[in-house]
This record gives sequence, C-alpha cells and structure tokens, in this order.
Amino acid sequence: MTAPDASRAPDAGALDVELITVGDELLLGFTVDTNAAHLARTLAGVGGRIVRRASVGDDRAVIADAVREALQRTGAVITTGGLGPTADDLTRDAVADVFGRTLALDAALLADLEARWQRRFNHPLPPSNHRQVMVPEGAEVLPNRHGSAPGLWLEDPQGRWVAMLPGVPREMRGMLADTLLPRLQGRLAATARVVRSRTLRTVGIAESALADRLGAQARTVEGLALAYLPGAEGVDLRVTAPLLPPDEADARLGAAVETLCARVGPYVYGEEDADLAALAVQGCRVRGWTVAVAESCTGGMLGMRLTAVPGASDVVLGGVIAYANAIKVSELGVAPALLETDGAVSEAVARAMAAGVRARCGATVGIGITGIAGPGGGTPDKPVGTVWVAVDVDGQVHAARAVFPGDRHEIRYRAAQAALDRLRRAVDGQAPEPPWVTRS
Ligand code: ATP
Repeated sequence: MTAPDASRAPDAGALDVELITVGDELLLGFTVDTNAAHLARTLAGVGGRIVRRASVGDDRAVIADAVREALQRTGAVITTGGLGPTADDLTRDAVADVFGRTLALDAALLADLEARWQRRFNHPLPPSNHRQVMVPEGAEVLPNRHGSAPGLWLEDPQGRWVAMLPGVPREMRGMLADTLLPRLQGRLAATARVVRSRTLRTVGIAESALADRLGAQARTVEGLALAYLPGAEGVDLRVTAPLLPPDEADARLGAAVETLCARVGPYVYGEEDADLAALAVQGCRVRGWTVAVAESCTGGMLGMRLTAVPGASDVVLGGVIAYANAIKVSELGVAPALLETDGAVSEAVARAMAAGVRARCGATVGIGITGIAGPGGGTPDKPVGTVWVAVDVDGQVHAARAVFPGDRHEIRYRAAQAALDRLRRAVDGQAPEPPWVTRS
C-alpha cells in the first residue's frame, strides 16, 4: 500500500494559505528556507494547507506584487522576514501599499522597545529601530516574546488577511505557536483533516537491520507510511498519518508507534528531537553516578555533548583530551607497553583510558574513546573510521569496536554517540550488544 499524496489530495475543509518568504539571502541561496518547511508542516498538523509558496527579494514593489496576487487567489497569506529595523526590511511597507494604508508609529510598542533596550543594553533605542514600531493603519500587532520585531495582522473588509512574521526562525516558530495558530483556530473548519507525524529516534542499528526487524511492516506500519531518516545520531523513523480527522490521526499514530517500539525495542531512545546525552545524564543522576571522559579521536566532543545538558554539573566531573600518546601515559596512566604492543587504537588502550580517567577523577563511570577519524592514517587492519569505545562502570568495563562511515566530523560524532548509547544502556541495566566485550 502506498501513502496518499497529501499535498494534492482534495480537502474541502482545509484552510488554504499562501506563503511568501522575504529576503535577498533566500534568493541567493545563502539562507535555506527552513521557515517554509516549518510552516507547511505545522499548518498541515492543524488542518491548514500551504497551497502555494514563493520567495521574493527585499524589494518593496516585488513583495507587494507577490502579496497582492496571493490575496487575489487565496485570500490568506503568511509572510516571514523583512520586519527588522534596517532599510531593507520592507514587508510592512509593501503590505501597507497593497491594503492602501499608511504607516504610523505605535506609541505603546515604542515605549516597550525603548524599555527593552535600556534593560538589555543599557543604551537608548537607536533611531533606526523606530521602523520596527511603524504599524499600518488598522493592523493588529502580534506580540513577539522571542525577539524585538513584532508581527502584524492586516485584514480587509472581505476577510482577506495577511499575517506578517519575523524571519529569524526561532522567533517565527515561537510567534506561530503563541499567537498565530490560536488566531487561526477559529478559521479552521471542524471537519478539517490533518497531516501529522511522529518520529522515533534509534541508535546503534542500521537502516537495513531496522527494516529486517520490522518485516512485513517495514514500509507501512499499521497502514501508515514509514520513512527512514539516517544521520550521524542514528536512524530516525518517521510515521505519517495523512489527511485524517485529528483524533483518528492521533490514534493511528499511537498504534503505529506502539508497534515500532515493540519491534525495535531498546534501540529506540526517544521521540522527535530527544537528545541521547540528556537521557544519559538524567539516567546517571537518578542512579547517583558521576562520569569522567578520556577522549582521543573525539577531541572533547563527548564532553561537549554531556556538558551541553543543563544541570550536567552534578553528573559530569571532567575529563582529559588525550590526543597524544604521551598524554595517554602521563594523564591517564596508560602503560607505554600497551601502546607499543596493541597500538593507540585498540581495545586494551580504550579500556586503560576509561579505567585511568575514572580512577583519576574519582568517578563512578569512566569512558575511553580512541580511533582513526581520517581522512589519513587508516591501514588494512584499522581502516579510517575504526573506533574503540570503552565504558567502565565501577570497574566492570564494556568495550566495543566499530568502523563508522562518513567524513571526519561524522566519524567523531558517531563515536561520541556510541559512547552515550552505551552509557544510557548501562544506566538502564541493559547488557551490551554482541560487538561489546565485557571484562571486569
Ligand atoms: P530581524 O528583526 O531580526 O531583522 P526580520 O523579520 O527582518 O527579523 P530578516 O532580516 O528577513 O528578518 O531575517 C533575519 C534572519 O533570519 C536572516 O538573516 C536569516 O538568517 C533568517 N531567515 C530569514 N528568513 C528565513 C527563512 N525563510 N528561513 C530560514 N531562515 C530565515
């Protein structure tokens, strides 16, 4: 069974919207239009539909033409970008032209912005920022809790509307969720069908092995389309429910996720944008474990991932970037003879690094990583991508060798991710998978 094409299927109940993203940078290809993707997904999830989208440069007449045409066709337009304080931020002027409105300074917005500048920069508001508080006559201001440029809503007597959102993606997403979606709720028909999806994150298992585990459900799960999204953090599994009433979409997605979890089991570590480091840190905290890291080829990446987690200080003690052999010896106590006989990229050295950093930092867990990130340095025995990871929990050491694909960055990232995965599984009391060798 193939998934219905959600973009073309007719749906009388949907709120049809045109999207215009504004900015020369978009046309030049320096900025990728992630706003369009986010808006399309989000609207589809609540029963709206982007029926056409365009990008235009920072040109008042061109923006006005695009908005005018979209209003004539669809009567509902969202713009992003061009609301800032500089002379090339022209969206509000262009939309005011289309509606035949003049711009006037909004005193309340000005006072708010002045106070914000004083608070944040201890500096009076520069005159150029006054552009940001110019509001077309009859427009409603859409408050922006995430930045300084407010959004705007303009509607004509026929009910045709333009919602103007800022270009900065974080601000645009925040304002969409806080302000615009609640406003659109009333316009979304109760019968509208939605396109919703859920994403499960897996680690430590290849796409093909996932498909094998899913067997007959490898392409569709409980009748819903399944996509495999491989990346340096693992393979994400996204299941999509197309054009269904919201309750039915959620119920079917729930059933599909249950099936996926049952079949893929411990390889699943979370949903949507779950962070393996955050899970590992939280797990260690619950068990009262502390962690220290000894990193060679990852050069601090594992420490960076762990310390990026808010509140990591009660779990992460510290670590050593032991890139040179001399540092492995002097700072971690790795025996020079081991480096001589087994080589720096070896199980014995990874174990010694993990044990050494655990002992020196006085941590519950020591993690050692040593490998060849390339592009040079590979041998037939130890090709580029070969990494040994050892995790020492209270003297019981699990070590595993992997040969990771990808460029230097990906190999290093995958190695750090593999170490976090072992840590998460150790926290959960899960036995190591076959490539892992356990010794006390
Ligand atoms: P600001 O108040 O920050 O000036 P703005 O509404 O004027 O906001 P722009 O100046 O058009 O927004 O864009 C600000 C930044 O947001 C751009 O440099 C770009 O990095 C990013 N951006 C703009 N539009 C998009 C888009 N469609 N997709 C992704 N990023 C975007």
